[in-house]
Amino acid sequence: MLVQSMIDTLPADIVVDDPDIVAAYARDQSKFTDGGMPFAVLVPRTTAEVSVCMAAAHRHRVAVVPRGAGSGLSGAANATAGSVVLSLHRMNTIREIDVANRLAVIEPGVITADLRARVSEAGLFYPPDPGSVEFSTVGGNVATNAGGMCCVKYGVTGDFVLGLEVVLADGRVLRTGRRTVKGVAGYDLTHLLVGSEGTLGVITEITVELLAAPRPAQTLVASFPTLDGAGRAVAEITSSDRTPSMLEILDRTTVLAVDRMSKMGIEPGTAALLLVQSDDVDAEVVLASIDSMCSQHGAVDVVVSADQGEAALLLEARRLALPALELLGDWLLDDVAVPRSRVTDLIASIETIAEEAGLTIGVFGHAGDGNLHPTIIYDDADADSRAAAMSAFDAITRRALELGGTITGEHGVGRLKTGWLTIEHDETSMAVQRSVKDALDPSGILNPGAVLR
Ligand SMILES: Cc1cc2nc3c(=O)[nH]c(=O)nc-3n(C[C@H](O)[C@H](O)[C@H](O)COP(=O)(O)OP(=O)(O)OC[C@H]3O[C@@H](n4cnc5c(N)ncnc54)[C@H](O)[C@@H]3O)c2cc1C
Repeated sequence: MLVQSMIDTLPADIVVDDPDIVAAYARDQSKFTDGGMPFAVLVPRTTAEVSVCMAAAHRHRVAVVPRGAGSGLSGAANATAGSVVLSLHRMNTIREIDVANRLAVIEPGVITADLRARVSEAGLFYPPDPGSVEFSTVGGNVATNAGGMCCVKYGVTGDFVLGLEVVLADGRVLRTGRRTVKGVAGYDLTHLLVGSEGTLGVITEITVELLAAPRPAQTLVASFPTLDGAGRAVAEITSSDRTPSMLEILDRTTVLAVDRMSKMGIEPGTAALLLVQSDDVDAEVVLASIDSMCSQHGAVDVVVSADQGEAALLLEARRLALPALELLGDWLLDDVAVPRSRVTDLIASIETIAEEAGLTIGVFGHAGDGNLHPTIIYDDADADSRAAAMSAFDAITRRALELGGTITGEHGVGRLKTGWLTIEHDETSMAVQRSVKDALDPSGILNPGAVLR
């Protein structure tokens, strides 16, 4: 057997073949995605060991699925039958924090929250903050170009990646990027690899840019009796010169679920809740201006706080959004993005889709950058309910495209949305993407079935 012959060439202490452990690496956190049982899990500790693994896989034509923490929601880290999973979790050293040049050099298995904490001890700031910050890896964040709540002001993970070390499909080691603030030498291979979901190479080192630590944020929460009012407020905030460091929205269904769970006493009749933060030097002025924009557009209850403890309580509604919706049944979380001015058009369409399908769909997400997470509640044990959930999921994705949006804002294509990729991108774009894949992975061993079918 080819895969066994390949494994026989590797150091025994980086191969895990205990079936129970191997099974735990078979899937990520997604629903409705294909996958199969891997043959083994490889757990290298160094770039040299990753290179040995890839060279062996290349020679034996064995499929390799790179994996961080497996927290993905699109099936991108799902194994295929007979593949090997290459888990980077043992490569978890922060190699360098260069305060003078405001950068850090890290291994891919570092947990994002650990990097943020270490950088903060040095008086600096690494902004990317996906909801999975406490357990996802920076390697996985780079490979999915993860977003989070900070994106409205600071951007996505890729905006902080200066350079990478990557092991290619045949085992060669590629270094991309730079340590300088500027640099335009050659094609931008760094950002070709960012978001490539383990299909173009295995990331073994990451150089990230850091910022000066911001001031503690001040917080505003506004409840709107109409969705339309919240939409107009979002459009005015995002087109003004007052950029918040967070601008999140919860729809009526999510607000009700959160209130039922937490007994927070959220204003009854709330159709949408906006949660806003500013960490600017003049945060008070920024929030006063956003307060008046919200009030002008009909907000009935606006609370502003500079107190960190109180702010944490105010933000609790956002933190509880998914856990509260989870209590309603099985859930399928979508991830679409639309132009910021169309956020509430999408939410209104989702209300119609939910009504027509007879399903509960809660919507929350990053209003400030147009990225929403409609969460479809269904019964996994009931085939009809599963089918209805999948068809609502498709209807939402289609609607996002009709509104000028994209099929995924941050979770990636994975195995969940490969069909949709060919709808969003035209033939020329798909042909160029296939050429890139063929150039970097000619025998198609890296994460086959993810992103491109
Ligand atoms: C509760 C919850 C909240 C979440 N919130 C957010 C959010 O706010 N924003 C967001 O963007 N996502 C979010 N996610 C999704 C997920 O956490 C992100 O996609 C995250 O970036 C995945 O990181 P990971 O280490 O778990 O990677 P994995 O899931 O293991 O892998 C993800 C992809 O990256 C590839 N990969 C991993 N490591 C490497 C590497 N070293 N080299 C090459 N390829 C690699 C894998 O092959 C796969 O294609 C959330 C998930 C959960 C469960």
